[in-house]
Amino acid sequence: MKRVENKVILVTGGAMGMGRSHSELLAAQGAWVFVADVNAAEGQATVDSIRKNGGKADFLQLDVTQEAQWNAALAQITERAGRLDVLVNNAGILILKPMQDTTNDEWDRVFDVNVRGLFIGTRAAVPLMQKAGGGTIVNMGSMSGIASNIPQNQVAYNSSKAAVHMMTKSLASEFAAQNIRVNAIAPGYIDTDMSRGGIASPEWGPIWRNMTPMDRVGQPDEIAAATLFLASPASSYITGEVLVADGGYTTR
Ligand code: NDP
Repeated sequence: MKRVENKVILVTGGAMGMGRSHSELLAAQGAWVFVADVNAAEGQATVDSIRKNGGKADFLQLDVTQEAQWNAALAQITERAGRLDVLVNNAGILILKPMQDTTNDEWDRVFDVNVRGLFIGTRAAVPLMQKAGGGTIVNMGSMSGIASNIPQNQVAYNSSKAAVHMMTKSLASEFAAQNIRVNAIAPGYIDTDMSRGGIASPEWGPIWRNMTPMDRVGQPDEIAAATLFLASPASSYITGEVLVADGGYTTR
């Protein structure tokens, strides 16, 4: 028995990086995955790769900041699959700037995608889960919502991820009685486009690794494994948890 057999799962930011890994692993474990992203070309490539490996997936155009697009995407899922079992709120952006250089627009943009996008999307998706008698939500937080990274400054991002963690706990409490579990993952540095520049940088990369007890960055599939756990019945009594997957970074 596969671990998410026949589950209908929406992954935001599913085209690239960790979103692609979540989508591929969940599909390999039996789910019908709706890969939702602003990047249609990469999103379709992810879908094609899943199908080539025998999995079931479809692409949906979705900018998580646009409520009308959420409604359209969820309507598509309802029409095609009839229900939504799992929502993986993975889409996120990073602005690497210290406070004095961060404009109001940049602050708003980070919060629009990372926090408000997650809020409006989850609010739109929950009624589908309620109708089906339950569901599971997995949010992508960050170790940056727990500890302040060094040497780079990224106040807007860190604050947004702390908000994701608190939203996770708030919604877990609000929806527990309706059989909807809400958890988050707090990854450390993961080898994706978002972090690759920093990992390769001679100023930052060695510090990032030295600060990580496991002395390496993580790979996207190591986070996808955590997503699979939280999406599957293996975590049936877990809700409101922020599962840290950071090679030990926040132990220090
Ligand atoms: P990537 O930048 O590699 O991929 C993110 C994907 O989301 C891209 O396909 C991107 O499209 C898409 N996306 C961006 N904005 C939107 C939007 N408004 N609506 C829908 N899709 C969007 O990111 P990662 O895979 O590294 O990160 C995934 C999540 O994990 C994020 O929430 C991130 O904050 C979090 N995280 C990442 C860490 C890391 O070290 N990489 C560490 C901790 C947490 P496009 O490329 O076209 O913009």
